[in-house]
Amino acid sequence: MSSVDTTIQLITRGEAAGETCGPELAEGPWVFDLQAPSYGPGASVADPIPASTPRQGELPEVYRTASRDELHHRILDAKKTLGDRVVVLGHFYQRDEVVQYADFVGDSFQLANAAKAKADAEAIVFCGVHFMAETADILSRPEQAVILPNLAAGCSMADMADIDSVEECWEQLEELYGTEPDADGRVPVIPVTYMNSSAALKGFCGEHGGIVCTSSNAETVLTWAFERGQRVLFFPDQHLGRNTAKAMGVPLDQMPLWNPRKPLGGTDEQTLTDARVILWHGFCSVHKRFTVAQIEKARAEHPDVRVIVHPECPMPVVDAADEYGSTDYITKAIAAAPAGSTFAIGTEINLVQRLANEYPQHTIFCLDSVVCPCSTMYRIHPGYLAWVLEELVAGRVVNRISVPETVVATSHIALERMLAAKP
Ligand code: SF4
Repeated sequence: MSSVDTTIQLITRGEAAGETCGPELAEGPWVFDLQAPSYGPGASVADPIPASTPRQGELPEVYRTASRDELHHRILDAKKTLGDRVVVLGHFYQRDEVVQYADFVGDSFQLANAAKAKADAEAIVFCGVHFMAETADILSRPEQAVILPNLAAGCSMADMADIDSVEECWEQLEELYGTEPDADGRVPVIPVTYMNSSAALKGFCGEHGGIVCTSSNAETVLTWAFERGQRVLFFPDQHLGRNTAKAMGVPLDQMPLWNPRKPLGGTDEQTLTDARVILWHGFCSVHKRFTVAQIEKARAEHPDVRVIVHPECPMPVVDAADEYGSTDYITKAIAAAPAGSTFAIGTEINLVQRLANEYPQHTIFCLDSVVCPCSTMYRIHPGYLAWVLEELVAGRVVNRISVPETVVATSHIALERMLAAKP
């Protein structure tokens, strides 16, 4: 089976054609643990990282120098010893070298729910990124420890909206709009956060009449919000917000962008008064890489190609694709297609490569020919997984992600609203 890691190793050694976004990808991620905080090599490497981002201490040498084979056996032995006491979760964008040990594989919300279903497990090892582990902690029992194998596995998009900037934005909007509902009982603005955000922002939404959405239910959630509010403040991903609202018929000139570094978000009172959706200036560095030119190239080379992209892609890319949808949508579309179909997919390379391996009856390729994974997800390597599992065997919990109780309570409210929102 070919994996993204193997391909990267071959390309950087000059043994395979193609290119990656950085030769440092071939290094162990621990090389970056002790350097100045950064997202590490991969798609979001150039994004500014907040000073408050958690850092990973040095991974013990034994795990840094172990061979793949040795790590494989250490992980299997630890899992066997721990049995049902531990559940390992693997995100769709995680490298295959880690996903192979996962008890469940899915998107962030599917995985948080999978953790809930394993109520007897003492520890949940989340091979994803920081906000996902936080969501699992919110939804799991307080006694269950949620562990992120590498604390430096954050998410550059989630980091683009921090609680202080959102609270500042909210104050400015309240000053402009007031807090009184209109004649239909709709409040001036409803906050909506994408699942890919910190627990603090989910809690903010819970506290202020708002809600959480995923890429699968964004339209349902916006409908819910428009029933209760005159406008929506959508964060952190501008593209998911814009693509969803546009598909619902909201004109682009009623979707101003809020830049947290500028007064009134860099816009003006009249634009904000006329707005239906205020979009936070955030984006996913992985999905930002996809372009209309890549779609045109795929169509020229494969006339029968079906182009499916994720709604985190910029609007022109979504408009040029045949379809767009969440990772779950993409996976189901491929599974349901007749043998011999050709797909060009606009989402993270690890998932696309895995789908290509799983469905050899189809031709499946990533729209971006450069092998460039999600930097933050890539910070998790089998070495870290072996370490946290063996620590659990020894009775020690390392890298625990704990959301404060008050935030758990308010986040729950926003998540429950999402679950109750029906199309
Ligand atoms: S793919 Fe994008 S949104 Fe997902 S974890 Fe990576 S940076 Fe964050």
